[in-house]
Amino acid sequence: MKKLYQKPSILKLHVGFMREKKSAARTLIRSEIDGIPVKTLVEKFGSPLFVFSEKRLRERFRYLKRLFESHYPRVEFSWSYKTNYLDAICRIFHQEGATAEVVSDFEYEKARRLGIPGEKIVFNGPYKPLEILERAVSEGARINADSLDEVLDLENLARKMGRRLKIGLRVNMDTGIYPRWDRFGFNLENGEVMQVARRIAAGGLLEVVGLHCHQGTFILEPGAYGQAAEKLVRLAGELENRFGWQIEYLDLGGGFPSRNRLKGIYLPPEVAVPSLAEYIEAIGRAMLSGLPPGNYPLLIMETGRALVDEAGFLLTTVRATKRLPDGRRAYILDAGVNLLFTAFWYHLKVEMEREIPGPPEPCVLYGPLCMNIDVVEESALLPPLPRNTHLILSPVGAYNVTQWMQFITYRPRVILITEDGRAEVIREAENLEDIVRKERVPEHLR
Ligand SMILES: *Cc1c(COP(=O)(O)O)cnc(C)c1O
Repeated sequence: MKKLYQKPSILKLHVGFMREKKSAARTLIRSEIDGIPVKTLVEKFGSPLFVFSEKRLRERFRYLKRLFESHYPRVEFSWSYKTNYLDAICRIFHQEGATAEVVSDFEYEKARRLGIPGEKIVFNGPYKPLEILERAVSEGARINADSLDEVLDLENLARKMGRRLKIGLRVNMDTGIYPRWDRFGFNLENGEVMQVARRIAAGGLLEVVGLHCHQGTFILEPGAYGQAAEKLVRLAGELENRFGWQIEYLDLGGGFPSRNRLKGIYLPPEVAVPSLAEYIEAIGRAMLSGLPPGNYPLLIMETGRALVDEAGFLLTTVRATKRLPDGRRAYILDAGVNLLFTAFWYHLKVEMEREIPGPPEPCVLYGPLCMNIDVVEESALLPPLPRNTHLILSPVGAYNVTQWMQFITYRPRVILITEDGRAEVIREAENLEDIVRKERVPEHLR
């Protein structure tokens, strides 16, 4: 997040300001999504309602893939399940050629259930329960080890199976990003990776064939990826020379930002968020300049947020209007932080379904929960909204339909607008039966 503190040039600021003015005037209204009126969607499927655009998902994926392919010859995209693991969304990315990136037993099982074979699964995560680790190893998944204890688990499995296992190592390093995510894998700078590698080589049961580095999420510094790639390439060379291993893949994790507005950043995303091309150029340059020509390991990218965030919208409705004691206008929406985990971190874009007359004033958007922290936006500039006005919040495609909470209210429907313009339910709304199904009442309380 170094970018935060860099002073943007006056020109950049000016361009950003002009763009924002223009876009504020132009995009405050969103009457339809992919050709279907917002009003029709709410009438048919209810409010609140999550809406995903298949067109945007596919376009984004293809764009990213093309960009990478013009900078490095061998790239694989591995879809980060925790960013959005709705079946329909995963299937779209798998159809486009993405493998699966999972971080738990649940996610591994979900990928297998969708028909993804073990060899097409990258298994990360700091805790891989033994049972699922054994299954993943026997099904040929790419396992990236996070700790020495996990290396020991893998050695035990190798003994049990009577063969040498190929594994990857998660590596954390200094790439100039603060705060540094140093809890995943083994540290590069203090020699921990080399120490573990020596330990693995001495054991003779495992062979390191991959290196993985996930620096964080919403990283605004393309150069950090260049540094990560450069350091992994150098490390791969050292491991190959010292231990005779062949490094088959380098995995740069996820973390590319979406066009969302992180709280504390005052520039609009069009200015504050670098283009994906800048990240990919930095990675391509570092890879190609560090590797011997012709010997290119597979580059794996676990991009989540940047692929899915802008394809997701949340339609919500004003259910009540009030004046706060300090004079500010406030609205109660039918969607709150129970559905919008990311509203804690980002100022989501708020759009109206139709033009509404009246002078805009700063107002607070509350959700329906009985909690003071249930604030969707603390300061939105909106005209006086009549009750039952529909608002469109975006981008919300990343992390919300996985981190949403069943708390106080039911979770709503999720729909997908297909490429040919149909609206399909991809997750039904919850009802009482869904929620109480797992409860048990002891005999004496019946
Ligand atoms: C969460 C995660 C990702 C995806 O990150 P995004 O910021 O959504 O791109 C990729 N790899 C790993 C290991 C992760 O934990």
